[in-house]
Amino acid sequence: MARDKQGLEEALKRVEGELESARSSADRLLEAQRISGVGSYDFELASNTNVWSDQLYRIYGREPQSFNASYEVFLSMLHPEDREHVMAVHQHSLATGSPYEMEERVVWPDGQVRTLASWGEVVTDGDGTPLRMVGICWDITERKTMEAQLVHGALHDTLTGLPNRSLLEDRLALAVQALARRDQPLGLLLIDLDRFKIINDSLGHDAGDELLVAVAQRIAGAVRPGDTVARFGGDEFVVLCEELTSAGEALGIAQRVQDAVLAPLVIAGTELVVTASTGIALTADPSVLPGALLRDADSAMYNAKRSGRARSVVFADEMREEVTGRLETETQLRRALAEGQLRVHYQPILRLGGGVGRVGAVEALVRWEHPTRGLVSPGEFVPIAEETGLVVPLGEWVLEEACRQLVAWDKQGIRLSVSVNVSGVQITQPDIVSRVAAVLDRTGVDPARVALEMTESVLMRDAGETLSVLRALKDLGVRLHVDDFGTGYSSLSYLKRFPVDAVKVDRSFVDGLANDQEDIAIVGAIVSLAHSLGIEVIAEGVESVAQLTALQEMGCESAQGFLFSRAVPGREMARTLLGIPAARRSQEDVVKAEAKGA
Ligand code: C2E
Ligand code: CA
Ligand code: CA
Repeated sequence: MARDKQGLEEALKRVEGELESARSSADRLLEAQRISGVGSYDFELASNTNVWSDQLYRIYGREPQSFNASYEVFLSMLHPEDREHVMAVHQHSLATGSPYEMEERVVWPDGQVRTLASWGEVVTDGDGTPLRMVGICWDITERKTMEAQLVHGALHDTLTGLPNRSLLEDRLALAVQALARRDQPLGLLLIDLDRFKIINDSLGHDAGDELLVAVAQRIAGAVRPGDTVARFGGDEFVVLCEELTSAGEALGIAQRVQDAVLAPLVIAGTELVVTASTGIALTADPSVLPGALLRDADSAMYNAKRSGRARSVVFADEMREEVTGRLETETQLRRALAEGQLRVHYQPILRLGGGVGRVGAVEALVRWEHPTRGLVSPGEFVPIAEETGLVVPLGEWVLEEACRQLVAWDKQGIRLSVSVNVSGVQITQPDIVSRVAAVLDRTGVDPARVALEMTESVLMRDAGETLSVLRALKDLGVRLHVDDFGTGYSSLSYLKRFPVDAVKVDRSFVDGLANDQEDIAIVGAIVSLAHSLGIEVIAEGVESVAQLTALQEMGCESAQGFLFSRAVPGREMARTLLGIPAARRSQEDVVKAEAKGA
């Protein structure tokens, strides 16, 4: 008996203990659910009752245990677009007995839409008849948003928010595939802002960014609703137009983009007019490679730039070779600079005063001694050097080389000054002045014997900024010459504002001097205007005696051209001077010296 009682008491204690631990494990389960954010449910099919954990109510944005989530109530809380899918998943699981896994959206009473993940399974009786569905569920809204942001971030440009290059390439690949099912062609527009680098360099990167954002919006506003506008990199944008009705439609879109970009913009307090050059590639061929289309658009764009910018050009097959050539040139030019394949030749500049020519100066003109192509003229590689920024080290090298040559000539008894061409890209370098100063220092050349030639358009670009750079250069003691004078802006008033020593009348005007009345009038006007401002005039491209005579009559101070000499290597200068009859007298002693030395 006693034993029985003891056994009973022990049994009771054990049950109590189990109950206790069951309670605490139930509590623990609830606590675990709360912490992990995972809710659970147990849905009895026959009675349509749904036992939800407290956490599940919270996940649904509701008070724990405030209602019975019958199937209809449960459905009514889901996002309307997800209801059918959820029912289908449940039906499938009930029919097959397989577990399910899905994402669904719930709408909270305050209107918030949250995304949930749920796993569940069907509980059946011995015969396989479904009795209940049980499962767990948790909120994945934040994770979803983050994923979406990551995906967006990986496929969009952070500055403009436009699709980036990789998304564009995806869409282009799909669009090309779709050509197999359609007969309307697709067009690819590659839009490159003209002179963006200059704006960026002169107004600063923030202004550059601001400009890019504004332009991005303008382009996006100018295309058709279904077109993809992407930022392709730097200042390049691409528009992908599917289902074009004709090639003309692509040109129309390009024109609208051009017009939209062209409207004046105020950036960093400065009013800017920006233009763009657009290359267009068109295809209806589903087997074309997307990369090839992009290259074609790029070739066409490059052509648009070359034919004067601010225009659209449709790709033609001949352009392909040209671009390959250009890329090749760029790579080779880098090597040329590093491996010393560049040369400087010097073209004599004659003083015309008093009817007697005397060579007082030369112009340094760069050449490229290409290992297979021979001597390449600057017209072929200087523009590429400018585009790639290579013109900065190139220009500095030419300047240094020219200064060293002056010193070498000095030792031969040939006393000359030198004019060196400076590209607009160099002028925008923040350290241009100190770099020029360093070259003068290194070579020990008197700055007064060095003239820097730059074109009108360089001077006009951003008056304020350029002016201070020019003043600083002048302060070093070098001379400043305006190259190709007369071809750029017709406004001459800037000559007064800039510390200019000489203007070089462009070859195109000198050309007509012997017979064209208009050219005679223009050159005459340039000479008298320059003189009234105390500026000298140098004529370039003098090829005939008639031209020379006209220039002398007008009072032009100096001239250079094939009539006297082409540009020659430095070591040939002594002999060249000897060959210029008018120059012979003044350089006679020099040549004698050279003859003795040789
Ligand atoms: P530019 O500064 O106007 O140079 C004058 C060009 O006219 C030179 O061509 C010269 O050879 C050519 N020329 C001279 N006299 C005559 C003539 O009587 N008739 C004709 N038809 N042409 C004549 P080049 O050497 O081919 O240079 C072309 C351009 O390349 C230069 O034009 C200049 O803008 C650029 N360049 C040359 N060297 C450099 C350089 O070191 N740095 C930079 N940034 N540009 C350079
Ligand atoms: Ca020049
Ligand atoms: Ca020139």
